Amino acid sequence: MTLHVSYNHQCPACEAYYIPFDKDEACPRCGKLESERFDFIRQASESARFNLHTYEAFLPPAWFVGSLGDHILSLLFRLLESYRKKGRKSDFVKFAEARFSEMNWGDQAYLKGHVLRAAVRVREELAKNP
Ligand SMILES: [Zn+2]
Repeated sequence: MTLHVSYNHQCPACEAYYIPFDKDEACPRCGKLESERFDFIRQASESARFNLHTYEAFLPPAWFVGSLGDHILSLLFRLLESYRKKGRKSDFVKFAEARFSEMNWGDQAYLKGHVLRAAVRVREELAKNP
């Protein structure tokens, strides 16, 4: 089994898909700061930690994407797992930036910085409580 984050959200102003995970995380496309907040970082960290303990990898053998939260989680799992496999030697932020720059984000280029910020926050949570 795996721990999913069933969450979908679109900016009411520009309809961009994103997760308002921290109090100052505005819409990454238009900059609108909403009152809506979602406890994504804690849930994402718990899911990643669960995978590592259960499958000895951040990326589980199968991952069904049923929501925006799951989609962003799959990007985070791949990133965390490739960083773990590299032996965590390089700087995480630089590593994540390089990985995300290689990806084709299509018309969701605004998600790159957003997912990067989420990745750094999840990594902080995992470091606090491994
Ligand atoms: Zn927006």
